[in-house]
Amino acid sequence: MSTAIRAVGIDLGTTYSCLAYLNEYGEPVSMANREGELSTPSVVWYDRGSVVVGTEALRNSIVYPQAVVTAAKRYMGNANHVWTIGGRQVTPTNVSSEIIGYLLDSAKDSIGDIKRAVITVPAQFSDLQRAATVEAGLKAGLEEIDLINEPVAAALCYVLGNEGLAFSELSLDQNVMVADLGGGTFDLSVVRYTKDRVQVIACGGDLKLGGLDWNNLLIEAASRRFRLETGLDMKSDPTSRQMLALEAEQTKRSLSTREHSTLLVQHAGHRKTLKIDVHQFEKMSATLLTRMEECVTRLLKDNNLRWAKIDAVLSTGGASRMPMVKTLLKRLSGRTPNRALSPDHSIAQGAAYYAGMLLANDSSARALLGEATTERLQKVAFHSVSARPLGIIVRDAHGQRQPYYLIPVNSTLPAEAKQTFGTVSDGQATVRLKVVEGGTASDDEVIRLGDCLISDLPPDLPQGTPVEVTLKYGADARVQVAARLPDQGREAEAVLERPGTVTPTSGDTAKVTSARAGTEKRTPVPLSEAELGVSSSLKLPAQLMADG
Ligand code: ADP
Ligand code: MG
Repeated sequence: MSTAIRAVGIDLGTTYSCLAYLNEYGEPVSMANREGELSTPSVVWYDRGSVVVGTEALRNSIVYPQAVVTAAKRYMGNANHVWTIGGRQVTPTNVSSEIIGYLLDSAKDSIGDIKRAVITVPAQFSDLQRAATVEAGLKAGLEEIDLINEPVAAALCYVLGNEGLAFSELSLDQNVMVADLGGGTFDLSVVRYTKDRVQVIACGGDLKLGGLDWNNLLIEAASRRFRLETGLDMKSDPTSRQMLALEAEQTKRSLSTREHSTLLVQHAGHRKTLKIDVHQFEKMSATLLTRMEECVTRLLKDNNLRWAKIDAVLSTGGASRMPMVKTLLKRLSGRTPNRALSPDHSIAQGAAYYAGMLLANDSSARALLGEATTERLQKVAFHSVSARPLGIIVRDAHGQRQPYYLIPVNSTLPAEAKQTFGTVSDGQATVRLKVVEGGTASDDEVIRLGDCLISDLPPDLPQGTPVEVTLKYGADARVQVAARLPDQGREAEAVLERPGTVTPTSGDTAKVTSARAGTEKRTPVPLSEAELGVSSSLKLPAQLMADG
């Protein structure tokens, strides 16, 4: 078994996960799991002493619905979300780490131990969600992890892929929209590629819109009909509900290739069927389709893009197989979506290409990948943009705390911004910067990343004493913050550490994040609700009283 480093990509999806690696010809190969499947359901069954991942876990979700976790990715980075199963506390990170561990284990038989990999995340994942993903990878035994945004991976797969497109031969600059409708998320990006350069120029989407929502429509319709006919609420029974969930999944898939399908509902000795055709299904889906449409329109509008500037629309993700999704994208864009990408494997494969790009200078990886491949991969540069704005909490003219963003969404990474604020009150002893990431178009939640503190300031500092704040999405893509009181010669700097995270984690939103376990010390940043320090009563625009 080889010990050389492989270029490995892992698509950790809400509903399905896969692993791909680059072979010696530089071609991505999707690895089958222990059961011979190329995609593994992202489902974990905590069966007393043992943990079972994949199809077997999904199958058992009918009999043991309480012991099986699905769609954990929807809760990634949410420290309050815990499943209690048989007395065990399970977090979304634990669940993800089991899934990654299973993929690594399955691949081990053919390509040996894997210690380094690229894991994919939705473009809109916040820093916290990224950190949780890295932590899951480390828990699963990886030692070095890089993250890549899913639509970027899809675009790399398209550009570098062997669909007759040799990247270096592309003569025209092109803008490509990547629309990835998976099980739990709808990810959208516009990617520009020129010779040897792949750049994300905009990203958007909806973290709460995916194939599962279409399943829920069928589940609702069927259980409503069942109640009408029998007077019974079948959803109150976890087993009946789970059986219906699996049935809804099958029905949805049938309707991607057939005009009609039938859904079977079984509960409390009753059996009912719901006949449904593809047109009814499309009608039921109107709200979901409208949300997709709004995401697409908003992405274009917010970034001053017009369809005339988009050369191709790439659709990927398992749920893009639904005819209504193809129709929608075609209607909006006025062109037939390019289906060259595999809906199921393009993201893991793109991640494997990216892993190859990162390893192109590594001699042991070069030996495995071959000279021609590494040369080609070495030539490619790619840049990404931030999916969320980055800023601090300040007080406005009325004393209200609110976020003030220094680095706007869709900034090319790495990015840095500097601005001067003023202290809030006379004699302020500490300045505490509360660093936040803003919400995305589809979720407005402001995410608190951590603090940077300057304490023990000289007494009698007047209100409005200048504080210079620097925020960075660094080249290694972590969030960094620095504060300086130029007149007092005081400063503080911090790389943000999140509570409960024991290892160095990634920071950036769109490019790539690197976490090298155990190789770096990071300055811990105290987290507290103490008085926030920055803002002022200086006469400044934007009623935020920030100058500069
Ligand atoms: P994720 O990466 O979020 O796990 P995937 O890209 O693997 O998602 O897509 C999974 C989703 O695609 C699921 O909701 C699944 O039901 C849906 N899907 C897969 N095949 C089909 C199909 N033939 N028709 C409709 N939906 C499908
Ligand atoms: Mg996916």
